[in-house]
Amino acid sequence: MALPKLKSAVIEHNETLLTGRKIKIRPFHGREEKKILTAKMSGTPIEQFDVIIEVMSTCVSQDVLQFSMAEFEQAYLILYSVSVNDKIEASFVCGECQAIISASIPVSAVKMGEDIGKTTTIDLGQDETGKNVTMVLNQLSVATSRMVMSAEDDSEIVAIFDSLEGIYVGEDQIESPELEEFGEWLLNQPNAYTESIKTIRTSPQMSYSKKWQCPDGHDNVTEVKGFSSFFRS
Ligand SMILES: [Zn+2]
Repeated sequence: MALPKLKSAVIEHNETLLTGRKIKIRPFHGREEKKILTAKMSGTPIEQFDVIIEVMSTCVSQDVLQFSMAEFEQAYLILYSVSVNDKIEASFVCGECQAIISASIPVSAVKMGEDIGKTTTIDLGQDETGKNVTMVLNQLSVATSRMVMSAEDDSEIVAIFDSLEGIYVGEDQIESPELEEFGEWLLNQPNAYTESIKTIRTSPQMSYSKKWQCPDGHDNVTEVKGFSSFFRS
C-alpha cells in the first residue's frame, strides 16, 4: 500500500487579519518545519527572517512581502497555530536567580498592536504661502523591513520613501516625487527625518506578558514583544 496522504496537510484555511486583509493559509509541512528549526538553532536574525519569509511565501497564497509587519506577524501566529498547535513553547528566565522555566504561550493570548493598519501623519509646518504641509506614512512592509535589516547606505531614506502614502499641501496631494528628489527634500526639512524614522521604527508589534513565580518564589513579569522575540522563544 502507498503511504497515506493526510487531509490536514493540504487543507486551506481562510482567515481575516485585523486589518481586514483576507488570506488563505495552509499548514507548514515537515520540509518547512525543518527549515524553521535549523534557522532557530543557528541562524542570524536576517537568516531567520528570510526563512520565515520563505516559509510564509509557500504557505500563504498572497504575496507576504507586501504585508505590513503587523499583518505578517499575525499571519505567522495563525500559521503556527494551524500547523503545530495553539501554544508557543518558550523559556522564561527568573530576573533574580536566573532559574529557567519552560512556559507555553497560548496563541490566543497574544495581543496585536492597537494601531495595526493605521497611517501616521507628520506635520511639517507651513509652506511659503502659509498652507500646512504634511506627510503621511504607511506602516512598514515586510519587504522594506527586510531591506532596513540589511542596513545598506541610505536604506532608511528608502524605507521612508517606500512607506510614503503622500505629501500634502493643505488638502492637496502633490505628485509623487522620485526617490532621489524626496531624499534631498526630506533631509532639508527640520525635524522631518527624525519624526519619520521614529514612525517607521514603531510599527505595532504583537506582545504577550505574564506574571509568574520561579521555584524559589521570586515574582517575575515577562514581556515578549515583536516578531523576533516570539521566534526565538
Ligand atoms: Zn528566582
